[in-house]
Amino acid sequence: NPIISADSSAEDSAADRALRPKQLADYVGQPAVREQMEIFIGAARQRRESLDHVLIFGPPGLGKTTLAHIIANELGVNLRQTSGPVLEKPGDLAALLTNLEPHDVLFIDEMHRLSPVVEEVLYPAMEDFQIDIMIGEGPAARAIKLDVPAFTLVGATTRAGLLTSPLRDRFGIVQRLEFYGRDDLASIVTRSAQLLHADIDSAGAGEIASRSRGTPRIANRLLRRVRDFAQVKADGRIGADIAERALDMLNVDTHGFDMMDRKLLLAIMQKFDGGPVGVDSLAAAIGEERDTIEDVIEPFLIQQGFMMRTPRGRIVTRNAWLHFGLDAPEQPPT
Ligand code: ADP
Repeated sequence: NPIISADSSAEDSAADRALRPKQLADYVGQPAVREQMEIFIGAARQRRESLDHVLIFGPPGLGKTTLAHIIANELGVNLRQTSGPVLEKPGDLAALLTNLEPHDVLFIDEMHRLSPVVEEVLYPAMEDFQIDIMIGEGPAARAIKLDVPAFTLVGATTRAGLLTSPLRDRFGIVQRLEFYGRDDLASIVTRSAQLLHADIDSAGAGEIASRSRGTPRIANRLLRRVRDFAQVKADGRIGADIAERALDMLNVDTHGFDMMDRKLLLAIMQKFDGGPVGVDSLAAAIGEERDTIEDVIEPFLIQQGFMMRTPRGRIVTRNAWLHFGLDAPEQPPT
């Protein structure tokens, strides 16, 4: 059921680009992040300096890439984009760094997947705008220092906890993105509908917003599917009724839970009596990677108050039993 996964598909990538706000003023929600970035970007611009390195973390689809592009745009510089797993060798990073213009933004997605040898090159680059590279091989090999232009590294990760501390410490600005509330998501849906020339009213936007798992990427994807439904099954206008029928057809429930969310909660309740259960046992029970559970599925369920992380493992809350109409055990585990 890819309809509600927060990961991006090829269709999303194209749509993400088209719907991405380009200015901080159009970046919906995240008021603390917006206010701080406005000040830091303004100050760097006034001093004609490069902006301090920025680390952005949060679950997929919440706007990390969008924010990186906005930062470059507001600074009036180029953005070069790459990702942790793509940078295999120190030379890959060196090539990128030496080709930057002064004050450019280098955006590295999936920072937690950088290889240690590449990370080593990044430290002096971030700190002193210098890199040490090896020339030649064997006895003739020697290390030389190269200057690189002053640049801003914008790193994104779904898991700040997986970054090494020397790396984390080199970011002057750290921003954490939160799941979006219904009103913010409704604004995003309304804005996207305008760009897509879709006719939607506020009740329709609200219905899509409340089923989007707190995630703009999902809100935009649901909007596209609801638009298809409205076009084929009705006159194209998206009101609450059409949105509700379309989303029911797509199997998106009223909390925005998808199949994996439901599977995870049901597994804890039905196979482990509500928990506590370790994340590895849970992963085996639902046939899902541990990383996916920790990065994608769990954060939203915890934020919504349906499950908790405890030192002894995961447990579901009362809300989960109620949501599925199941009876909680007599003595709910604490
Ligand atoms: P991430 O990099 O965190 O996975 P993206 O930056 O690719 O997420 O965001 C996914 C899509 O969601 C973008 O195309 C954009 O249209 C939309 N989006 C994300 N954050 C916002 C926001 N704050 N305001 C408006 N749209 C947003």
